[in-house]
Amino acid sequence: MIVDLHSHSNCSDGQLTPEQLLSEASKAGIELFSITDHDTLAAYRQIGTAIPEKLTLLPGIELSCTWRKMTIHLVGLNVEPESQVMADAEQAQGLARAERFEKIIHRLKKIGLSIDNDQLIANAGQCPGRPHIAKYLLETGQVNSERHAFDKYLGQGKTGDVKECWPNMDKAIRWITESGGVAVLAHPLKYGLTRTKLMELALEFRESGGKAIEVVSGQQNPNQTALLRTVATRFDLLGSVGSDFHRPDQPWARLGRVAPLPKGIAPVWSLFS
Ligand code: AMP
Ligand code: MN
Ligand code: MN
Ligand code: MN
Repeated sequence: MIVDLHSHSNCSDGQLTPEQLLSEASKAGIELFSITDHDTLAAYRQIGTAIPEKLTLLPGIELSCTWRKMTIHLVGLNVEPESQVMADAEQAQGLARAERFEKIIHRLKKIGLSIDNDQLIANAGQCPGRPHIAKYLLETGQVNSERHAFDKYLGQGKTGDVKECWPNMDKAIRWITESGGVAVLAHPLKYGLTRTKLMELALEFRESGGKAIEVVSGQQNPNQTALLRTVATRFDLLGSVGSDFHRPDQPWARLGRVAPLPKGIAPVWSLFS
């Protein structure tokens, strides 16, 4: 069975509409799928009941939060989009995003970048984030690529890395759990943690009520999968898989192109069937 439990639509920083995303997921042969936009469930309000045959859609969201002053991401799977808890979470995260967006712009202008606030805010839509700023900097010739924008201005530890707006990990786990969902630690190798710190994160995540970890996230090498398998086993976490698809021109994150879970790891989706 092809499973992909991490993807983005244009309700956050993805390129495809929710309907297009479902159609592409179906074409890729995905049978169990989740749209996990950053801090919003708007895609689920747009889709309604128009879901392709043979595809099971699990409601999901990717929440930004902090752990030890670092921003990390949690995927909430099987949350209830209509719940009051999720409405509260979406509202709080939306406010945090807007406030953070303005702070990032302010900081970047202070170091000499040229930004038209109104234009950038208007282009950013409902879920303003760093990718919108990267795109703007590229379009205005201030960087050579979006990647360059992250490396120089927006990535972890850079001027535009504003994280004090996000709730802590405990709170994000509570939102997910209280709305009937399961908290999954997203792309654990993207935070640049040492092995020791990664173990500490997994332990605290588990102790706070987290249940699963992305053992497979996009394209990764066998050593990376082996490390994440060890983390899952050591902390008794279920395994999830996700491409983190954003758009068709990123070959490292293609819909449904994810390795199967390694042997001995219980799939998080066993909870939903
Ligand atoms: P934000 O939600 O504002 O924190 O932005 C995070 C998003 O930026 C991630 O979900 C990715 O889609 C994108 N992103 C993160 N790092 C990079 C990078 N180095 N190059 C391009 N895009 C990135
Ligand atoms: Mn993203
Ligand atoms: Mn993420
Ligand atoms: Mn993501």
